[in-house]
Amino acid sequence: MTLHTPSLMLANTVLTATLAVCLGLVARRDRADGLFYWGLALAAHCAAYVLYMLRGQVGDWFSVVLANMLLAGAFALMQEGLYQFQGRKAPRWWIWLPVPALGALFAMLLGHIHARVVVLACALCLQFAQFAVAMGQRWAETPGRGKFFVMAGLALSALALVVRAAAAVAGRLEMDSITDSGPLQTLVFAMAAVAMILANFGIVVMIKERADARNHTLAFMDELTGLHNRRHVLQALEQQIAWACRARQPLSLLLLDVDFFKRINDTLGHLSGDQVLRDLAAGLRGHLRACDIAGRWGGEEFIIVLPGTGAAGAAALAERLRGAVEAGRFVMPDGTVLPVTVSIGLHTLHPVAADATVDSLLGLADRALYRAKALGRNRVEVA
Ligand code: GH3
Ligand code: MG
Ligand code: MG
Repeated sequence: MTLHTPSLMLANTVLTATLAVCLGLVARRDRADGLFYWGLALAAHCAAYVLYMLRGQVGDWFSVVLANMLLAGAFALMQEGLYQFQGRKAPRWWIWLPVPALGALFAMLLGHIHARVVVLACALCLQFAQFAVAMGQRWAETPGRGKFFVMAGLALSALALVVRAAAAVAGRLEMDSITDSGPLQTLVFAMAAVAMILANFGIVVMIKERADARNHTLAFMDELTGLHNRRHVLQALEQQIAWACRARQPLSLLLLDVDFFKRINDTLGHLSGDQVLRDLAAGLRGHLRACDIAGRWGGEEFIIVLPGTGAAGAAALAERLRGAVEAGRFVMPDGTVLPVTVSIGLHTLHPVAADATVDSLLGLADRALYRAKALGRNRVEVA
């Protein structure tokens, strides 16, 4: 099947212009998600097609050399966008090298369209390979399925270019100008349209999927310490009470509060206070089992749910945690080592009554914590 090449080019130009405008309207430079570069890439792609369509009406330096440099530039910009999306520095010279190289080669091959077809296929396939390598380096960290659409788009485009180049090498490509129509031209330009839709749909989906994954994590995680947040611990505690009641297992709860934390903030500043909270959380995690649930309850208060742990085990763990914090080295940005202690309130349910509630359990652990404070701090009290 052969379609009219200039019409296909016009359709591609309208398509990429529409996508470029859409991305330009939603992209924000400060968001650093790559969309801004992808919008620029589409604009460069669109400009390349406009110059292709003007073949014969403007000089070959524009319609051949500049047009193909713009096309290669579009794929370089796509890579810039990908690196920005991945949050890493783009290897600029490596990404942009194919653009001047292609320009120089095309300037030398102005009268040789079949050679240009082969060179273009090689250059763009090299760029697709660069893109695939960058994608592959962060494949596992990129959540969702958008990445498959992007790769499928590039693979289809590469396939069409390779088929046309192979025909040129075999002497079976009947084409005197890029605007000539033929089955292979139809394949290349139809695939270019499909590839553009797939790749751009894919990148938008990739950005959305990553935002969804981050929001999902943030809904359950305390951003400062990386522990669970209060909402998640409350949900988990409710489930654990029900399970402990049904399985006739003990359930223990620890509430930890940093002693005189306000002084740390007041003397060293909030950033140092935050660092203490982060170090403390990391230290706590190191002493817990995989099934224990540790969260940040409030400002400088932490909560630890210990499923299947009886009074003696919980008291031993609480004492271990208290001792570890007291012995811990909390090194501040200025190098000073800060003495930090915690008071801990502990309550164990065993057996768990059917009417036990989160509030009653928390209330008792909280009373124990207040007693630990009242009795001088840096100690464990049992409800
Ligand atoms: P106590 O031994 O009685 O617990 O004394 P305290 O100073 O630790 O208790 P208080 O409740 O008076 O102070 C808690 C302080 O924790 C007050 C607040 O400014 C600080 N705080 C709460 N959340 C954060 C946070 O996210 N970062 C930092 N740096 N400080 C916080
Ligand atoms: Mg407190
Ligand atoms: Mg405190």
